[in-house]
Amino acid sequence: MKYVSTRGASSVSPSEAVLQGISPDGGLFVPQAFPNVTGEMEQWKSYTYEELSAKVLSLYFDDFSQQELLNITSKAYTPNFPKGIVPVRQIYGNTNMIELWHGPTLAFKDMALQVLPYLMGHAMDKTGEKRNMLILVATSGDTGKAALEGFSDVVRTSIAVFFPKDGVSAMQRLQMVTQEGANVHVCAVDGNFDDAQTGVKNIFADDAFLQDMEQRNIRLSSANSINWGRLSPQIAYYFHAYFRMQESGQVKAGEGINIVVPTGNFGNILAAYYAMRMGLPVKKLICASNDNSVLADFFKTGKYDAKRDFFKTISPSMDILISSNLERLLYEVSGRDAGKVKELMRSLREGQQYQIDGEMAQQLEQHFYGDWLSEEETRAEIRHVFEQHGYVMDPHTAVGHGVYRRYVEKTGDTTPTAIASTASPYKFPQDVLKALGKEECKDEQQACTVLSELSGLSIPEPLAALSGKPILHSAFCKKDGMREDILAWVGSAHTPIRE
Ligand SMILES: *Cc1c(COP(=O)(O)O)cnc(C)c1O
Repeated sequence: MKYVSTRGASSVSPSEAVLQGISPDGGLFVPQAFPNVTGEMEQWKSYTYEELSAKVLSLYFDDFSQQELLNITSKAYTPNFPKGIVPVRQIYGNTNMIELWHGPTLAFKDMALQVLPYLMGHAMDKTGEKRNMLILVATSGDTGKAALEGFSDVVRTSIAVFFPKDGVSAMQRLQMVTQEGANVHVCAVDGNFDDAQTGVKNIFADDAFLQDMEQRNIRLSSANSINWGRLSPQIAYYFHAYFRMQESGQVKAGEGINIVVPTGNFGNILAAYYAMRMGLPVKKLICASNDNSVLADFFKTGKYDAKRDFFKTISPSMDILISSNLERLLYEVSGRDAGKVKELMRSLREGQQYQIDGEMAQQLEQHFYGDWLSEEETRAEIRHVFEQHGYVMDPHTAVGHGVYRRYVEKTGDTTPTAIASTASPYKFPQDVLKALGKEECKDEQQACTVLSELSGLSIPEPLAALSGKPILHSAFCKKDGMREDILAWVGSAHTPIRE
């Protein structure tokens, strides 16, 4: 399997794609073809989650052995998740929640970020990489913590995470600034997520900086969802959800389902699209946004317009105006026309907008549906589903459910549906309680206690442990100061780059 760039650069091996993160021409790596697995699905049904994940990965990492991949997924999932890894909960009728948040940081990003460090480590060995890796991450909240947790104290690797100063929840911030590990750095940026992400992208394109790193024997890479090693471990759980829906009698082999994904950077829903391209029977992919409704508008009009106000919402991991992974979808719906993608991305860079042609729009419409929920509607959705079905959702998942509910009302489509439940409600206890009409608590810990009494669910262990932890990170920089911040950290006396 080779990986081609969405902007046309020459192809690389799976290991190289993971180490490089982003193609030298600024494009994103995509597999040269999607293997069709329709004939294997009957067999896959009986696999454990770890086996299924290894199987899917083996189709995309053919420079890894089957056993290597099974070792990787077992190490990533078995000790860090409850048995079964991903519960698929039928909350009413044919509506199911794919609970992707039972990992160490309580958000779906663990599904990939527990795997990525192992993929990278093996890729370094396979390519004979002698340098140490420095992972740069821009986060809208959940990626940062999940990446820190995944890469903490991994040999020959260090990690720097940048988060928007006022753009993450109190719990997300606390999770990050208390992160332990000799090789981790966390810095608040005076800007929003797009500023942090742009800052990281600029650093990757900064030749002087790269040379400086080269002299220190450091190679840069990324753990953002633009990295193929982030995206690929997300494909398996859509198959997993389908199999569980088969077992509960909601679908027969070959019958289509709808998949709903609360979306930010477009990674999670893209993995669902890739699953569909591999043969998973999917009728509609429903893309749910919050007030930052750039994707919903795009699916309605074919115009991507990032020139608009940015809103901070109670679903901060979706507060994004530039959804990087959309580039990969554009590549597919343009018939893999790198020239076209390049042109659209240039237009986005220079004018914050682009318009796709009718043919591409038609392709999109066939598979995707987009809509968005306001803050008030999101709160009402949390309350409604709790009152009607006794199920507590975090605000991101609530955006997904609300968009889905409106879709059903509008279309009458009763296809069995799987909703990606992307975070534990305990990650956003204050907002969830407020939505449920409860009084404000004095802090996150108290809010967790109240939420636990209300829902009957026990407080997840990683959050319960947070209150006693010291703050280890207080770095802060302007949005054009990220480069200097890294240099200061890398050059500091206690250099965290380990042999
Ligand atoms: C990251 C995140 C999302 C958005 O996922 P993308 O892959 O960026 O679209 C949604 N919900 C939660 C809780 C997240 O952490």
